[in-house]
Amino acid sequence: MRRLLLVLGDQLNADSALFDDHDPTSDVVLMAEVAEESAHVPSSRVRTALFLSAMRHFRDRLTATGHTVRYHELGAAPAATLAGVVGHEIEALAPVEIRVVQPGDWRVRDALRLACRKRAVPLVELPDRHFFSSPGEFAAWAEGRKELRLEYFYRALRRRTGILMAGDEPVGGDWNFDADNRGSFGRAGPGLLPAPLGFVPDALTRGVLTEVAGHLPDRAGNLDRFDWPVTSAEATLALEDFIAHRLPLFGVYQDAMWQHEPWLYHSRLSAALNLKLIDPRQVIAAALDAHARGHAPIAAVEGFVRQILGWREFVRGLYWLRMPDYAGLNALGATAALPAFYWTGDTDAACLKDALRQTLDLGYAHHIQRLMVTGLYALLLGVEPRAVHEWYLAVYVDAVEWVELPNVLGMSQYADGGLLASKPYVASGRYIDRMSNYCSGCRFDPQRASGEDACPFTTLYWDFLDRHADRFRRHPRLGQQVRNRDRLAEADLAAIRVAARRLRTTET
Ligand SMILES: Cc1cc2nc3c(=O)[nH]c(=O)nc-3n(C[C@H](O)[C@H](O)[C@H](O)COP(=O)(O)OP(=O)(O)OC[C@H]3O[C@@H](n4cnc5c(N)ncnc54)[C@H](O)[C@@H]3O)c2cc1C
Ligand code: SF4
Repeated sequence: MRRLLLVLGDQLNADSALFDDHDPTSDVVLMAEVAEESAHVPSSRVRTALFLSAMRHFRDRLTATGHTVRYHELGAAPAATLAGVVGHEIEALAPVEIRVVQPGDWRVRDALRLACRKRAVPLVELPDRHFFSSPGEFAAWAEGRKELRLEYFYRALRRRTGILMAGDEPVGGDWNFDADNRGSFGRAGPGLLPAPLGFVPDALTRGVLTEVAGHLPDRAGNLDRFDWPVTSAEATLALEDFIAHRLPLFGVYQDAMWQHEPWLYHSRLSAALNLKLIDPRQVIAAALDAHARGHAPIAAVEGFVRQILGWREFVRGLYWLRMPDYAGLNALGATAALPAFYWTGDTDAACLKDALRQTLDLGYAHHIQRLMVTGLYALLLGVEPRAVHEWYLAVYVDAVEWVELPNVLGMSQYADGGLLASKPYVASGRYIDRMSNYCSGCRFDPQRASGEDACPFTTLYWDFLDRHADRFRRHPRLGQQVRNRDRLAEADLAAIRVAARRLRTTET
């Protein structure tokens, strides 16, 4: 045997560099479902099922196209860790080298390197061509910059790729259409929403769902509602459905929330993208084509492209630039435990209950629910960032560490002290009231910071500004909010502190 080609669970890409000069007569593909990947954080049943189903479909595709695949199914792997399986296979097959596309997780990369070094087998790490940029390009761009801002990296990528460019100028005359993209649904609500295309589980997926239910009986996730795309063909259908029915209003409602409406105008493509079932170039090309046909306005298309060409590439660059230290950052010195209700959704706060229940059930919440409901609450409460990170990594179907960690630690918890986000995203219950209908059905009042019906977000918002007043008083973007706190009467501040302390002791 010549080489062992390792396909990781989030690298289900038949066009990856792994298969460039593949020789089916002597190379062997290795794939393994190991216990550690669903146990190092308590991965939800939906997330685990999605990974396993997509992996098994990919195995079948490789086998059908002439590859020799050694595949270890859950519970049948010769070791509980990926490194252990690789070690076992090195002993069994004596390959001349192991090849892998650069892993999306520092922990996995480190463990693989160690396993191969211990057995003196070369590990060849190939670039991940799925992305537009490489960690090296990001590092070169970041060199010498004090702050790393998405906007400038995104513009550099647009210039380099020509995406949404007309010569040297941005299409539509502007780099950014955020001002058009902050709509809420108002009292009338969103009306009849186009239901996204779901995928009825086939026999293979049904088998996975049964196995996962047996292996992980106590984990979050409603397997009866599993309808995620698990193959490239399904991912393409999901993309077409989004472009046809939701992209035109994606921009205007991308920050809006509505109770019991998990999808709104979002694409639901993150998991398929992160598993590499679909190429981001294909996704962006479809959005650009919709604009060219007059089907979707520039504000929607630019807003969507910004998420994929911008944020997705940016957070990956940051992850590889700053790991492994990044995972331990805690700039605000937050130490509280994650409230137990994050694992049950059992809380009186209507916004949290809705975002948590759909997260635990479906493995999905859209960006503003993650940032301005579950993330915001943890930030305001002062939860230790690592605990927040582990929760996010466990519960979302699209959670892979390179994308999850910077979003959680940097964007949502400000644990990197402003490296990624220009300010902590803090807001009171009034923001949630403006962007959703949650507050109208809640027993709390978003206007009130203390008293029986005080909104926990509003209490904790003022408490956050109070606790961090010295740090942020001169901050260019948060200073005004701190100065508003300075104008509160001492008696009001005292009541807020008591209420915040009570929330911290009863909820953690
Ligand atoms: C605290 C927090 C944790 C997050 N964790 C993850 C995660 O584990 N995995 C993940 O893929 N995204 C994560 N995001 C980003 C974003 O919330 C999800 O990508 C999005 O909600 C997925 O749903 P969608 O496919 O319907 O996205 P859409 O709203 O339709 O957006 C289109 C695509 O843009 C990309 N995208 C959008 N925002 C971001 C972003 N901030 N960073 C990177 N890519 C982005 C995704 O690939 C997404 O599919 C997180 C955001 C926050 C605030
Ligand atoms: S009142 Fe506060 S807790 Fe209730 S839904 Fe509104 S923001 Fe959430």
